Amino acid sequence: MIKDKSLFENVVQQFDKAADLMGLEDDIRGILTMPTNEIVVHFPVKLKDGSIEMFTGYRVQHNNALGPFKGGLRYHPAVNRDEVRALAAWMTWKTAIANLPYGGAKGGIQFDPKEYSIADIERITRRFTFALGSNIGPEYDIPAPDMNTNAQIMAWILDTYLSMQPPQQRQANFHVVTGKPIGSGGSVGRDKATGQGVVFLIERWAHDHTFDLSGATYIVQGFGNVGSWAARLMKEHNAKMVAVEDASGALFHPQGIDPDDLQNYAANHRGIMNYPQAEAIDHEAFLGTKADIFIPAALENQITAETAESINVKMVAEGANGPTTPEGDRILFDKGIFILPDILCNAGGVIVSYFEWLQNKRAEFWDLDKVDSKLHRLIMKAYERVHAEANAFNTDWRTAAYIVALRRLEQVYKNRGIFP
Ligand code: NAD
Repeated sequence: MIKDKSLFENVVQQFDKAADLMGLEDDIRGILTMPTNEIVVHFPVKLKDGSIEMFTGYRVQHNNALGPFKGGLRYHPAVNRDEVRALAAWMTWKTAIANLPYGGAKGGIQFDPKEYSIADIERITRRFTFALGSNIGPEYDIPAPDMNTNAQIMAWILDTYLSMQPPQQRQANFHVVTGKPIGSGGSVGRDKATGQGVVFLIERWAHDHTFDLSGATYIVQGFGNVGSWAARLMKEHNAKMVAVEDASGALFHPQGIDPDDLQNYAANHRGIMNYPQAEAIDHEAFLGTKADIFIPAALENQITAETAESINVKMVAEGANGPTTPEGDRILFDKGIFILPDILCNAGGVIVSYFEWLQNKRAEFWDLDKVDSKLHRLIMKAYERVHAEANAFNTDWRTAAYIVALRRLEQVYKNRGIFP
């Protein structure tokens, strides 16, 4: 992974470009470029073998002017305060663009879960939840899954959090996390929601550009929750996945790789490497694969000053957060490559998290048709808001997406003022 610059600097650069263009007030600029709270916890965990290890966890609560803090938890060795701060700010913009009653937050633990047993990951998760204590809460700050975290981990957080409440209040606190297993207060459709949102937006982009998705080619980086769902849903359009990469390696096949078959293989082989129906290629060859659509769905800082020249697609749909640096953005723009920016493109996850939260609060259970159709409606409205600002300011979609978010936040600060 190329990490030449602080990730939060990328956020500030993107923010400044939009704020300059729309003429955002200086006072509000100052507020929005600083996170509200930054929580760092160091906590000991007694592992299964009896040894005790110290871990460091983060929760950055960027802004809650529009509603409770909301954002995922990531388990990865690269998690640090700068990364979490950037990811938290992107959540503030994302929830504002989608018109959700949420602010933005993000968190994580700096460790590599691949090196620990499931039993130890449960211990680490529960001890982290205990260390966060009342810094999270169903009406205050609501975590969700992100890289290397899933419904099972949300269930452990829920269970630990509920155990810390008085018995009479436990049933009223199920909405402290979203992305839970269905049987533990989760929502149908949450698992695929981020990938589904990406594909709804690609469909809309194709419609608006009279581009036929049937027979179109795409490449996917990251074959986890977001990447594998996006890949599988693209298959329903008869599009062909000609290259795919995960942490274990990259694959290529000019006739297309079946994402469902690859998903079965990856689940049994801890990754896509050595999948027999495709040719192994290296990272550079993967990035340079000629295709119509590129779906980055892994890490940040992938399309950079160094790599952007080699990207050979018509459009990039950013499933991951922060896959393109400001320099990468400029190079793609000059090459005429359209970008659906992360803060719009991967909002499907937080939109369906919102549905899960609402279902928990109202003691309701929605079916998949209802979840999918509501997701479609909300994400199309977000697309249209961004499209309108891109036209009004004659600017790229990332900047337009920021303008949508900053306008909404600016209005709230103007209405409510600053206490005292
Ligand atoms: P995940 O852990 O389910 O999958 C991550 C994938 O990335 C895995 O296939 C992994 O092998 C791959 N990967 C890791 N390092 C890589 C590398 N160096 N090169 C290529 N591939 C690599 O995570 P996820 O939940 O799918 O999240 C992926 C991205 O999407 C992250 O940027 C995350 O913040 C973003 N996102 C996730 C959600 C969600 O609902 N899960 C919502 C919005 C955005």
